[in-house]
Amino acid sequence: MSAKKANLSGELKKYFGFSTFKGQQEQIIDNLLNGKDIFVLMPTGGGKSLCYQLPALISEGTAIVVSPLIALMKNQVDAVNGLSSDDGVAHVLNSSLNKTQTKQVFDDIKSGKTKLLYVAPESLIKDDYLDFLKEVTISFFAIDEAHCISEWGHDFRPEYRNLKQIIDKIADVPVIALTATATPKVQDDIQKTLGMTNALVFKESFNRPNLYYEVCPKINVDKEIVKFINQHKGKSGIVYCLSRRKVEEFAQLLQVNGINALPYHAGLDQKVRVANQDKFLMEEVDVIVATIAFGMGIDKPDVRFVIHYDFPKSLESYYQETGRAGRDGGEGYCLAFYDPKDIEKLEKFLAQKPVSEREIGLQLLNEVVGYAETSMSRRQYILYYFGEVFDPVHGDGANMCDNSSHPPKLKDATADLKKS
Ligand code: ADP
Ligand code: MG
Repeated sequence: MSAKKANLSGELKKYFGFSTFKGQQEQIIDNLLNGKDIFVLMPTGGGKSLCYQLPALISEGTAIVVSPLIALMKNQVDAVNGLSSDDGVAHVLNSSLNKTQTKQVFDDIKSGKTKLLYVAPESLIKDDYLDFLKEVTISFFAIDEAHCISEWGHDFRPEYRNLKQIIDKIADVPVIALTATATPKVQDDIQKTLGMTNALVFKESFNRPNLYYEVCPKINVDKEIVKFINQHKGKSGIVYCLSRRKVEEFAQLLQVNGINALPYHAGLDQKVRVANQDKFLMEEVDVIVATIAFGMGIDKPDVRFVIHYDFPKSLESYYQETGRAGRDGGEGYCLAFYDPKDIEKLEKFLAQKPVSEREIGLQLLNEVVGYAETSMSRRQYILYYFGEVFDPVHGDGANMCDNSSHPPKLKDATADLKKS
């Protein structure tokens, strides 16, 4: 065992150039290589990819990595191929490939060159892919962003639901599922749906001690945000709004106020969207005003603030969205504007949905309202939601919220808002 561990460090250095593993990476990889099913719950930025990339690179055969977004897959494939001089070590398989390209991917897999094959779940069910994959050596399956399986998660994707049956058809090999969503409900859902209730579970703390959480009454919100951004001039930040229209309006308002801001939402032309995102990543623009379409897979280390113009629909989304701040460990200010009327609007919107969806939505909203109106440590509240006990006095980051650092003034203002 110890020989193998020393060896893993060597492989880590050889392929990734890192001298130490992060968190529980080494135990995870070791167990996966020993044939165990594994479930990894680790916050964003924790280093989940390496937990399947490294074992894939040193295993015989090809690991199949299921991932929900083509953009995410492409980034990872480029990154993995960049690790060696060889271009076929990682591939994406999807319907955008032409015949020649698909043949190249199949050939590289057959020759044993391809160690990681990235697929979206909807591609995996295609007959010609399925027939091919049944015939080749698969090392293991990695299900990234595994919360997409659960309706309780923040990004449910129906295509993820049937993964278990497809996996069973292809090969009887270990499965590693990974997610940055750790609510007990989602965790339970993932394990049941993937048939991995006996998996080894590795859970890391979701505490982000460098993030400061604050909730403000939604009064003069435009002015307040402009003021806040001006106080943080030149720093990178994200402002989340609920609707596309609001995103456009508010980006303009910021521009009119001399703030270097651009909009981002799924309704924008693809080229504009990508250009705006790139400008933010390249620091040509300070602030991106966005719907929740922005962010998955965005790895900008020095985002200094995340503002919610409109309150999020679940605490889970709030955690994910604010999680984009302070990834380098530096300052990360998370400010959310709360108006009970906004919650009522969301409730009305849910009333038009099918019953099951509505019930889930309402419960998630309840938890969000609880967060907004609580006078306890916000960090403690969020972590409790993730099934973690946090000491609000001595815990790491204990003073980093409005309720902990100064007496709550929000309560009175909220009461006023409710009256009006
Ligand atoms: P996640 O998927 O959990 O959000 P990623 O896999 O994208 O996280 O990794 C986040 C960052 O951490 C990446 O930049 C990655 O290169 C880095 N990283 C991962 N493992 C290590 C390690 N052992 N040492 C140093 N950096 C690491
Ligand atoms: Mg990841």
